Amino acid sequence: MSRPRTTSWLLLAVAAIGLLPLAGAAAVVQPQHASLPEDPAQLLKLADGAESSDINEFTALMQRLDDGKLKLSPQQQLHRRYLVARQIIFRGDFKAALPLMKAIADQSEDPTLSFRASATEVDLLVTQSRYEEAFARLSPLLEKLPQITENRVRIQTLGVASQLHLEAGQYDMAVNYAEQLLKESDNPKNACIGWYYMLDALLREGRLQAVGERIRGGMGACNRAGNVLIAGMFKSVVARFDIQKGQLAEAIGLLQDNYADVQRKRFPPLISDFDELLAQAYWKSGDAVSAKMHALRVVENNKGIGGLYSESTRAAYQVLYQVEKKQGNLSEALAYFENYMIADKGYLNDVSAKALAYQTVKQQVLAKKLQIDTLSKQNQILTLQETLAKKAAETSRLYIILLLIVLASIAMWTYRVKRSQLRFMKLARRDGLTGIFNRQHFVNEAELQLRYCRKSGRQACLVLIDLDHFKVVNDTHGHAVGDRVLKRAVEACEQHLRSTDIFGRLGGEEFGIVLPECTLEQALNRAEQIRVAIATAASGDDALGISISASFGISSVVLSGYELRQLLIHADEALYRAKREGRNRVSVVGHPEVFPTG
Ligand code: GH3
Ligand code: MG
Ligand code: MG
Repeated sequence: MSRPRTTSWLLLAVAAIGLLPLAGAAAVVQPQHASLPEDPAQLLKLADGAESSDINEFTALMQRLDDGKLKLSPQQQLHRRYLVARQIIFRGDFKAALPLMKAIADQSEDPTLSFRASATEVDLLVTQSRYEEAFARLSPLLEKLPQITENRVRIQTLGVASQLHLEAGQYDMAVNYAEQLLKESDNPKNACIGWYYMLDALLREGRLQAVGERIRGGMGACNRAGNVLIAGMFKSVVARFDIQKGQLAEAIGLLQDNYADVQRKRFPPLISDFDELLAQAYWKSGDAVSAKMHALRVVENNKGIGGLYSESTRAAYQVLYQVEKKQGNLSEALAYFENYMIADKGYLNDVSAKALAYQTVKQQVLAKKLQIDTLSKQNQILTLQETLAKKAAETSRLYIILLLIVLASIAMWTYRVKRSQLRFMKLARRDGLTGIFNRQHFVNEAELQLRYCRKSGRQACLVLIDLDHFKVVNDTHGHAVGDRVLKRAVEACEQHLRSTDIFGRLGGEEFGIVLPECTLEQALNRAEQIRVAIATAASGDDALGISISASFGISSVVLSGYELRQLLIHADEALYRAKREGRNRVSVVGHPEVFPTG
């Protein structure tokens, strides 16, 4: 349950000083003409201080520094260029700022300036989805961090590290960095940011109790910070927590209390977060009209900021799709469902890109270390051989053997690293609970198989399965039992699958099967077998006495074509009908009747 962040550290910094590049409404900057010092060193120091707090003073100082008559040393020139690059960032031109920051990081002899430029560079890479480079750049920074003493530089780095690890699904690390940030923060604004990252990571890790215990502390710091945006981000995490706990009234209250303030700040990522959460909370509390209104706002708002694949877009389409479906507006529901699928795919790609980037860089760093070790050991062997060649060699052989053993164990290590890399790739494709394909991998494999069927002129069918009244199982017996029932349902399905069938968990208690080389009639028979298997397998044993059933929707390439998207839409339509007509049955798109239960 992770989601890409809508708000990077960089955006937070930009937003916090009052310039909002994405809102298209930049603050009015009035240069001040107060008396400014002449000394370049002093000017740079003042500008550096004003950069994150007072945009007017910062602009005035930068104008003074631009004066050709000032004599700046090469190092001071670099410092000035760094601040110019920050100005470019404040204007919202992240792309142009990136090469400037990189050049400063590479050229500066002042380790702190070089470090600051690198940290900003990492953040700029993230805004452009260049995650692998971001991780590669971050890892030496974290190694050097103990030598950096300037507080705000440390805070910035810890913030970037927390955010990036969080996005890659490394929640423990994200929490660690956020806790460190919180410890080192010397003002409520930074403390609020620390709380925000920490609670967000804990929430995504599913540690609801830990989140609940910490909310008060975070609220205190964020209210003291007096910064609507940053406090708003924190409150959005609190609302998300409330929604997960089913405390819908609390979530709605918190969001509505702060809604007007957040709107006034005109910072689109946060406004979308608020609307997304309101849409979800209203939908869950049965107010479809308000849910729809807020979901539509998310879609509209995100169009402007290229947030097509963000989690808020995805969640908004999901709400819209559910609302229309509930109200019986089938064609609207289908259109929204299609948009949901597109947003979902883009979102999942983004999530796995980050996770893979993290693992890749980690393995590269490990592999590089091993390579260096191997080389130096080989070198030692050569020198030893040379010196020992002159001496009589009884003991020398022993040394050589010993070093060879070391070398062999390094080779073993390299092999293990490779193996864990492969295991990770495998894990990234499997659903953690049931071990079958996860949604992303299912989609990839299904598309591949369908292309193959199209080329070779073979038929294929798609079966969608959704367990009936599964919420009741959870509510009555608890989540752990629900999980066991899910696993058992998957085992029941697997008994009736061939090795060429593609089986995946599409989310929650919903599954998909692509049956290649299968006619509609055959698919119907197979689905019917699976239906019976689920209904019998899940009941009775374990002394649980829980009987469950599932509804099925089937689509075929004959009617829907070979595009997975279209097949999913039709199968979902059929599934919806099976649900409507009483559940525990199989329905086929295009057929007026639902096939009755056995
Ligand atoms: P319907 O017959 O209309 O499909 O009713 P339903 O209750 O199955 O449908 P709904 O979509 O409202 O509820 C699905 C439930 O599945 C809600 C959620 O608590 C539960 N669920 C989703 N993922 C998991 C999981 O991984 N484990 C457990 N135990 N429950 C899950
Ligand atoms: Mg269900
Ligand atoms: Mg469902």
